[in-house]
Amino acid sequence: MTDTRIFLSPPDVSEVERKLLLEAFDSNWVAPVGPDLDAFETQVAELVGVRHAIALTSGTAALHLALVAAGVRRGDTVLVPSFTFAATANAVMYLGARPVFLDSTAASWNVDPELVAQELRARASAGQLPRAVVAVDMYGQCADYRPLLEACDRYGVALIEDAAEAFGASYRGRAAGSFGLAGVLSFNGNKIITTGGGGMLLTDDGRVATQTRHLATQAREPVPHYEHRTVGYNYRLSNLLAAVGRGQVQRLSEMIAARQETASFYRAALGDLPGITFMPIADYGVPNWWLTCLLVDAEKAGATRDQLLARLARHNIEARPAWKPMHLQPVYRDCVMRGGEVSADLFRRGLCLPSGSALTEHDRERVVSALREG
Ligand SMILES: *Cc1c(COP(=O)(O)O)cnc(C)c1O
Repeated sequence: MTDTRIFLSPPDVSEVERKLLLEAFDSNWVAPVGPDLDAFETQVAELVGVRHAIALTSGTAALHLALVAAGVRRGDTVLVPSFTFAATANAVMYLGARPVFLDSTAASWNVDPELVAQELRARASAGQLPRAVVAVDMYGQCADYRPLLEACDRYGVALIEDAAEAFGASYRGRAAGSFGLAGVLSFNGNKIITTGGGGMLLTDDGRVATQTRHLATQAREPVPHYEHRTVGYNYRLSNLLAAVGRGQVQRLSEMIAARQETASFYRAALGDLPGITFMPIADYGVPNWWLTCLLVDAEKAGATRDQLLARLARHNIEARPAWKPMHLQPVYRDCVMRGGEVSADLFRRGLCLPSGSALTEHDRERVVSALREG
């Protein structure tokens, strides 16, 4: 008999979420409004330490409205890390703006703050400042916000934090999602917590919060008839899904602990293998350990990344290459890219291992033995 499939980062839901979901159902708040939605927002805002949280249908929707809040319009440019999931750049395109891609630093796999500062300096002297900079907290580890904010503040450019992968992480004692004009969380099925699909925009700025709520609910004016002064979106999260989110947030620290245990296990069990190096953890913060990722040096390891992927697949284990950078994607072929060697190398050699919070001891051992035999 073949072993059951091990997934990369499957949902981890329990009786807690089930009970909250059924209570919401029975209350008849089956709409994108309701007490669970309000409670979920308050809970996350308190945890992250921001004044406002607006629950939305996805992290992508939250990115879209965060860029609207930053004033991004047709013809603008926005600095975006190349090494990210496509949603970060796609949200820029929704507004008719153009991403300018920047390389990562090998020290954390996040956007290189020096490249951001350089690009802003060059664009300031050319009179072509971007409307915003988006930083992404890659694989659950925060970008380096001290130099990033310093550079953005110097030129008066808004920073947006794409913390879709990093809920529960922190940077110098401050929670992921709290940096810049607005932060973005995702509750997609593979993220550290899930509502089955959902996201959130976080901000301390009352004007941004009001505008985001307004735009996310079809930009309806507060009058009895249907009055619209701008084009709105239908982006509010369902109250039912928010109920699931409430349960997930209660279990966040337990789920982070489980992922950290997996990360430590992999590091201890594979760290001695030649040609294997794990994603570096910068000393400025604490990650949420969303995914454990490593680089394969084929010569030293005696196997390429793709050979290891194939071996894991044969053992019915789902693993993934690291993100394919945006500047190498056909859809973004024509965009400007600064640097690129680091992110191209991460894509060529990077491997993400099963890291779900419900992974068992037995599962982890299966992953390790498949890799060691490779
Ligand atoms: C998952 C993810 C998103 C998109 O979130 P959705 O909720 O799936 O729309 C955006 N950015 C990054 C970096 C992500 O990993």
